[in-house]
Amino acid sequence: MTIQTFSAAGVRWDLGDLFASHHDPRIQASLADARARGHAFARRFRDTIRVPGGPDPAHLLAAMRELEALEEDLKRVGFFADLLYASDTSRPEHRDLKEQAELAATEIGNLVLFFDLEWMDLPEEAAGRLLTHPTLAGYRHHLHRLRQVRPHRLSEAEERLLNERDNTGRRAFARLFTEFTTALRFPLDRNGRPETVTMSELLAMVHHNEREVRRRAYEALFDILSRHDLVLSSLYETIVQDHLVLDRLRRFPHPMAERHLSNEIDEQAVEQMMTATEANYPVAQAYFRLKARLLGLPKLALFDQYAPVSDALPPCPFDRARDVILEAFGTFSPVFQKIAQQFFERRWVDAEVREGKQAGAFCASPGPALHPYILCNYTDNLRDVMTVAHELGHGLHGWLARQQTPFNYDASLTTAETASVFSEFLVFDHLVRAEPDPQVQLALICGKIEDICATVFRQNVLTRFEQAVFARRQAGRLTAEAICGAWIEANRPYYGDAVELTGGYRWGWSYIPHFIHTRFYCYSYVFGELLVLSLYRRYKEDGANFVSRYIRLLEAGGSDSPESLLKALGVNFHDPAFWQKGFDEIRGLVERAEELAGKLGR
Ligand SMILES: [Zn+2]
Repeated sequence: MTIQTFSAAGVRWDLGDLFASHHDPRIQASLADARARGHAFARRFRDTIRVPGGPDPAHLLAAMRELEALEEDLKRVGFFADLLYASDTSRPEHRDLKEQAELAATEIGNLVLFFDLEWMDLPEEAAGRLLTHPTLAGYRHHLHRLRQVRPHRLSEAEERLLNERDNTGRRAFARLFTEFTTALRFPLDRNGRPETVTMSELLAMVHHNEREVRRRAYEALFDILSRHDLVLSSLYETIVQDHLVLDRLRRFPHPMAERHLSNEIDEQAVEQMMTATEANYPVAQAYFRLKARLLGLPKLALFDQYAPVSDALPPCPFDRARDVILEAFGTFSPVFQKIAQQFFERRWVDAEVREGKQAGAFCASPGPALHPYILCNYTDNLRDVMTVAHELGHGLHGWLARQQTPFNYDASLTTAETASVFSEFLVFDHLVRAEPDPQVQLALICGKIEDICATVFRQNVLTRFEQAVFARRQAGRLTAEAICGAWIEANRPYYGDAVELTGGYRWGWSYIPHFIHTRFYCYSYVFGELLVLSLYRRYKEDGANFVSRYIRLLEAGGSDSPESLLKALGVNFHDPAFWQKGFDEIRGLVERAEELAGKLGR
């Protein structure tokens, strides 16, 4: 395989802050030390947490401090092994080290696991007293979160039984779904020749500039899916039924309850957000009408949604991406700019495309004692600039949260993407303003709107569909007909009369992995994106006042629930006006696109 050279060639990270190499003797020494400390921890603390009346607060505090220190040292090895492996996955010594680090983490994790379990088992009264004790104030959130699953846990024997049976139950069905959909092949006529393509190749064709190619890709997709109606619908129906049974056993009051608990959001806030999203479907429809005009069509069909609105965008070399990002961050705050600068200067970024390197992009933030690292595969296009901005947003968060202790470091799931999406927005805005060519400006804005539609509106549709399917399953068995019907019903209000739904679209639900693997997760995307849009709107209104409060939010890491942390920024999940601010920002973008299109005579 030959690899094309891009402008980021030579931009590699320096892992020297962690270890010198995979055979640095400090690695084995760290592992041996962590193992010894794990045993010592167990000797000192086992059976001292679940004691009548609960442990002494100072004793509990000492246990947590020791646990944090142990996990932090262990993480340094695991983190190094992961990054080394990502740099070159083809080298066996990297794979060996990664495996060794994972085994050690499991082994030591098992040695100290009793701590969480004993804490969870402590009767309500004793735990309540400790949770409000000033000595433990810094760990209140962490301790509280550990106990939240308590009412839903079964006995140890039952948990073990379920876990073992899941391998031939829900996990087997999930695996079958993945293998089945990955193995599907789609016949397609390309350049006059018959070919078969995979689903990911087929889905990539929705971005093609020829309408006929997009239409044929959609037809092939739904044609093949509909032929597997029996398998796809019975897989889904089984997963739904399994979910309902477990909810009953674990005493969850409704199908979304478990997800809300792990997201730290309440049912009412989610419902308000979803209702507000529906009330704003017309904003998306206005965009669909504009897009039809830009494509020269009387009406948009489903397969035109992601068609390019103009010719290829100009390339963007890595150095320019770095400068644009630093400038954009600088307009927000010199603090942001300075931190981001470090990432480039101290070589915490690996951006070149090379053989053996892991695909995609990520930012790894291990904890307070270390600094984050970023990996991406920079191929000189404007989309890559957004990727770097996204990962640097995570990087800023990971850097600023270093003032927290390890247990308070990681942001909760729902706010983990706040800093990244916010920084994408900063860079997007800056890029549009700095762009001299109005055609490129328009393409950038349209791309942004389409991303937002896919994240906000479409994920809301997906969640409404899941709710409808679960409600119907509670009333009796699901047929393929019923599932397809629920899908169209959930989609119709979104597309309205602005987009033509093709016949095969009834099967649009059947290949979406979230419905199988992470049920009711999709609303978290709506939440994350709207939160950022709304914060961004606030930033434009409040300026400097917002900036300092936003930096404090990132510094707070995961030390409290998202709701409490965001309160300092004036965010109230239960106020519909808060969500509306996010939609105002989307509407603003659509209006900008309309205006530009008008000026360009399109
Ligand atoms: Zn991210």
